[in-house]
Amino acid sequence: MSDLYLRFVNTPVGKTAAQSLGLPAPVPLKRWKRSDQPFVEGNVLVGAADGAKAIANLGQTLSASPAKLFHASDIATLTDSAKAGNKAKPLSLGGEIEERFSALVFDATGMKDTTDLRAVYDFFHPTIRKLAAQGRVLVIGQEPSSCRSPAKAAAHQALEGFVRSVAKEIGKKGATANLLWLAPSAEKALDSSVRFFLSSRSAYVSGQVARIGKTADAPATSPAAPLTGKVALVTGASRGIGASIAETLARDGATVIGLDIPPAMDELQKVTDAIGGKALSCDITSDTAPAEIADFIQKHFDGVDLVIHNAGITRDKTLGNMPEHFWDMTIAVNLTAEEHIDEELMKRELLKENGRIVCISSISGIAGNFGQTNYSTAKSGVIGYVEAMAKQVKNGVTINAVAPGFIETQMTAAMPITIREAGRRMNSLSQGGLPVDVAETIAWYCHPASNGVNGNVVRVCGQSLIGK
Ligand code: NAD
Repeated sequence: MSDLYLRFVNTPVGKTAAQSLGLPAPVPLKRWKRSDQPFVEGNVLVGAADGAKAIANLGQTLSASPAKLFHASDIATLTDSAKAGNKAKPLSLGGEIEERFSALVFDATGMKDTTDLRAVYDFFHPTIRKLAAQGRVLVIGQEPSSCRSPAKAAAHQALEGFVRSVAKEIGKKGATANLLWLAPSAEKALDSSVRFFLSSRSAYVSGQVARIGKTADAPATSPAAPLTGKVALVTGASRGIGASIAETLARDGATVIGLDIPPAMDELQKVTDAIGGKALSCDITSDTAPAEIADFIQKHFDGVDLVIHNAGITRDKTLGNMPEHFWDMTIAVNLTAEEHIDEELMKRELLKENGRIVCISSISGIAGNFGQTNYSTAKSGVIGYVEAMAKQVKNGVTINAVAPGFIETQMTAAMPITIREAGRRMNSLSQGGLPVDVAETIAWYCHPASNGVNGNVVRVCGQSLIGK
């Protein structure tokens, strides 16, 4: 459903009206357009705290873009590799800065204690006003649980509060701020995440923390089609977010098996025909579903690389009014079916080496929601499942979740207008997300170079005011 208010406030009359009435004036977000599009363009400023560990890898990734790189010369500790090896031009943060930046990137991995947090202020204070509309702030710190000294852990944990607050301040420009927490010696695993968080693929992801672990070297991939040769299973693919996931993974080179319930077959067939995929009619809650899915994969392919558990339902009622079948169905579709399907695929060794499992939670699963005890229970359970499975998966397999906020789909179009409007505006970007925003986040998880991204729950919610 189209957001008429967003369109109106971006007309000259609408802008003036919103300003004089003190109403939110959301900036339309830029989305990814072409596969050969650079992940970042314009001016990018890089800074670092003393002892930065990721700066050379950051420099390498950024140098692969056409962006004009600057480094903060006032931060004396910025390593030589970033200054020299990566063609970055020095920029004094002391005087008036003329440039506008499409991204401000800060490597805080070297922080040893909380006094080092001053470097964060020194970098962002003179530059944050120079961030362009739809710009990106990206901070890289060390995973606090891996820090031996409490003072160091405190400094790196502190980055979360910093980034979440910056995200709230810059959201009105359509800009985002996110934090990457690196495990020790995981710098080499940064590339796909830096590319995602600096690009328009992450347009609706803000105020988030992603954890990146140490990994083996990722295989080389084609930048325009990194999923070439991969087979993906997408449940609930006939419409909404699922259809967008199928299209996005196919755009990135994957062959997609779209799955949906029998009544949705006509719609599903249209989606899979358009992307050269295969359609599978199946109710994932039936006892035979895991075996049917595994048989289908075995018949047509030698296994599956990407398993995206997208199918979901809501059956809202306050708890006292909720019939038991509302409870049972919601838990079965949103949670239990995923476990059973994964179990069968793993038992038959159909999930391939370096495979990816992605589950869909929801901000309702993080914050709870009135009238959704069943749905929130299921979506919270998804988080528990992902976090526990992440410790068990082997052979380079990762499992992660996305937690969408308000996404413009048939599900949200059916909401009463007051709830719909509140859902759209109650986030730092003051607008709803699109199915493709969820799909792009999943494509980042699925990227072969995201092998260090495991056990994460990243919200795709424009930094919704609801929940953490
Ligand atoms: P949707 O209702 O448009 O699509 C869900 C799909 O799942 C449908 O095609 C449906 O037929 C399929 N499905 C339902 N039960 C099934 C079953 N038993 N077997 C197989 N397929 C089944 O919903 P959507 O908005 O696209 O949501 C997709 C996912 O994102 C869901 O898991 C949902 O809970 C989650 N989510 C959505 C939002 C949002 O704002 N739209 C927010 C948070 C989370």
